[in-house]
Amino acid sequence: MGKDNIKGSVCLVTGGSRGIGAAIVKAVAAEGVKVAVNYFSSENKALELVSSLQAQGMSALAVRADVRNSADVEAMFASVEAEFGNIDMLVNNAGVSMRELVTDTSDEQWQQVMDTNLKGAFLCCRRALPHMIRQRYGRIVNMASIWGITGASFESVYAASKGGLIALSKSLASELAPSGITVNAIAPGPIETDLLIAELDDDERASLAEDIPAGRLGTAAEVASACRYFLSDDAAYINGQVLTIDGGWKP
Ligand code: NAP
Repeated sequence: MGKDNIKGSVCLVTGGSRGIGAAIVKAVAAEGVKVAVNYFSSENKALELVSSLQAQGMSALAVRADVRNSADVEAMFASVEAEFGNIDMLVNNAGVSMRELVTDTSDEQWQQVMDTNLKGAFLCCRRALPHMIRQRYGRIVNMASIWGITGASFESVYAASKGGLIALSKSLASELAPSGITVNAIAPGPIETDLLIAELDDDERASLAEDIPAGRLGTAAEVASACRYFLSDDAAYINGQVLTIDGGWKP
């Protein structure tokens, strides 16, 4: 089961206001897909992105929601459906990072990371799936992290959230393959975005780049290109996979 052409499909990208999410929005919109750009706090960035896509003749819509909150997720899906119709493709990209020793991590920090990175994806999948199952077609891509595979000191909670997201992706892939739905995960290494800049200063990022065989950090556009592939019909038989995008890095 699949679509010969994804043009005209509807895709929701969470955390689409900036960074990797914004690059995915641009890549998917360029395929003729109608894109809903979810944002939480970066309203201006989301609106600017949507305006620039619309100015190029593409269909895009900005929609605010805190993915941690099921009422927000419900309202977000309802407004996208009212504008574009049912959602065929979902990219769970919204995420927050945290560098902290476990011994210094509060209950609230744990909850913030888990709720954004893992519960948010669960809530969006749960809301998106009934339509995808009914139409026997759907594409879900979850933005994990290389830390979700390898673990990372000082980032145990973040790594645990991403490991959980990988397990969720693989489980849903088996559960939903009979319904013509694929669920894959992307596990980026260090990608030059606000998230990484907030964690590592210029010198730390330069020294990290030296450890990566490719000799540089990745770009949001490089992650977006893999996501676009998973969403395409060329990837119809690829399911439950975790693709690392890391310039050959072995942390
Ligand atoms: P970023 O530039 O910090 O962007 C994060 C995005 O998540 C923003 O669009 C933000 O929206 C959104 N977001 C955060 N909390 C949200 C919430 N509660 N509800 C809805 N949206 C929320 O980060 P990025 O580097 O592009 O990261 C994107 C994804 O890739 C994340 O899941 C991250 O863990 C993963 N990743 C990144 C790297 C990296 O090196 N950059 C590596 C591996 C994995 P607003 O700005 O509108 O609030």
